Amino acid sequence: PKTPLAVLGLGAMGGALARAWLAAGHPLTVWNRTPSRAEPFAAAGATVAASAAEAVAAAELVVVCLLDHASVEEALAGVDLAGRDLVDLTTTTPAEARAGAARAAERGARFLAGGVMAIPPMIGVPGAGGYVFYSGSRDVFDAHGDTLAVPAAGRYTGADAGFAALHDVALLSAMTGMFAGITHAFALVREEAIEPTAFAPLLAEWLTAMAPTAHRTAAQLVAGDYVSGVASTLTMQLAGAPTLLRTAAEQGVSPELLLPYLALMERRVAGGHGNESGTGLIDLLRG
Ligand code: NDP
Repeated sequence: PKTPLAVLGLGAMGGALARAWLAAGHPLTVWNRTPSRAEPFAAAGATVAASAAEAVAAAELVVVCLLDHASVEEALAGVDLAGRDLVDLTTTTPAEARAGAARAAERGARFLAGGVMAIPPMIGVPGAGGYVFYSGSRDVFDAHGDTLAVPAAGRYTGADAGFAALHDVALLSAMTGMFAGITHAFALVREEAIEPTAFAPLLAEWLTAMAPTAHRTAAQLVAGDYVSGVASTLTMQLAGAPTLLRTAAEQGVSPELLLPYLALMERRVAGGHGNESGTGLIDLLRG
């Protein structure tokens, strides 16, 4: 028999999660602040709860996926959580996740925080590549492993409830930098006789080739040595910066996405660290 569960929040992500569990045959109770959103789920076999409290009372395993931490606090205010296994898949900050864990502990619930690394169309689709970072109660992760794996594979990151959010946001932040780079690169070649569809594979191949820098950075952080064996020093990288900026100017492209990173490199070099790789910029950012 499949584990019964309750899902609070039937937005784009909560709805996709709920559909995946329904499709896998799990008895499901759903609740959404705006009741009309629950109607298709009722038609598909879910039990619709009239309140968050009623949904929480309906199942030991309770999955929450609302807009943000504040909406979770609001929805769960005054709700009896005793004896529940609360899995919060709302994107939060690490501190918010820790506050959620403290709130659950005070109210007698076990707590697992999750950061969903997928978009709704990837949910419940094996092989789509989506997964969920989890942190907090290892017991909840283990007890409900099969159920939690229905919408997407799980990756447990530690007992600190904030770690799932921290992993999630760290990856999203890196992605933001990559998107900035892609944006600038296309801006440079735009308006030229360069087909975007011909340029794209070159760009994707280049970014993929650069991605293992993450491993080198990790090795240098562990060794505490940002200098030994560095092929491309900050000084060398910075020597190329004027060409990047002059090319942007020639192409009529704003350098605003490049400048913050170049400024950080300059500060590190000015501090006497020109012989390092970029790893020392991490220390600079942390102040
Ligand atoms: P939606 O905007 O589609 O849905 C938001 C949900 O939160 C709705 O069910 C909404 O209810 C509910 N809600 C908002 N405020 C409150 C409140 N004060 N009290 C009760 N319920 C509330 O967002 P998503 O489903 O896309 O996102 C949900 C979470 O999943 C977010 O934390 C998001 O960051 C995360 N996520 C989303 C991804 C995506 O691609 N969509 C990817 C990865 C993570 P109502 O219908 O009444 O408005």
